[in-house]
Amino acid sequence: MINKNSEVILSVRNLTADVDGTQILKGLNLEVKAGEIHAIMGRNGSGKSTFSKILAGHPDYTVTGGEVIFQGQNLLELEAEERAKSGIFLAFQYPIEIPGVSNLDFLRVAYNSKRKHEALEELDAFDFDELVKSKLDVVKMDPAFLSRSVNEGFSGGEKKRNEILQMALLEPKLAILDETDSGLDIDALKIVANGVNQLATPDNAVVLITHYQRLLDYIVPDYVHVMQDGRILTTGGKELALELEARGYDWVREEVEVVAR
Ligand code: ADP
Ligand code: MG
Repeated sequence: MINKNSEVILSVRNLTADVDGTQILKGLNLEVKAGEIHAIMGRNGSGKSTFSKILAGHPDYTVTGGEVIFQGQNLLELEAEERAKSGIFLAFQYPIEIPGVSNLDFLRVAYNSKRKHEALEELDAFDFDELVKSKLDVVKMDPAFLSRSVNEGFSGGEKKRNEILQMALLEPKLAILDETDSGLDIDALKIVANGVNQLATPDNAVVLITHYQRLLDYIVPDYVHVMQDGRILTTGGKELALELEARGYDWVREEVEVVAR
């Protein structure tokens, strides 16, 4: 699906960041163009979720250097809410539960605030209901989930499907999916992957964070990046994921060191 002349959606240069005074990101570089699917792999603790939360504007993390340009705009200057409205979507590794707020209301508020940002008319409850129902099929979700509180009592797989439903409604320019595959059984994994594949277009981009190759059997990435110790150590095509599965992560650092010498 790579379009050689396509626009750069995200450009990250030499990004460094701290949490509670500890440096986690140590010079991360990444460029994502329209129509591309990128996978970021790496062991636990390599900084993958930190990176995704920094892109989304999570307040716990302090960017100490480098730059992030999203659609030509300095992303780091924007509040989290503005980032979401301008087309960044993060599906959390651990989706939060919001007791007392119905899933339908939550989705409608999120959707309408994006419409407002785009100077479009907000949808009333009736029209929104129609719209959301048309999207349920993307993730094979039962309409009963709309009247329940956001994620409350949802199984792991149902939470992940709900994240993809949000994505289907918000139609982000850049979707970052953090371990959307973790804890899913094979049927749920296929549903989630299918949903993502339906939503990926030549105009948007997807960054999949995962430490298992399995998801990449269903969502085929254009690039696979290996993250280690707060930076992207190496980048390859989809075959790199298979190699990681077979050989683990240690050889990557060894080879990079050999090349650097
Ligand atoms: P990954 O998603 O690759 O498993 P994370 O980004 O979650 O890695 O974590 C990277 C490192 O940053 C870990 O050592 C983790 O303990 C640390 N870290 C992340 N968030 C926080 C936080 N809020 N407070 C302290 N340490 C954190
Ligand atoms: Mg993580």
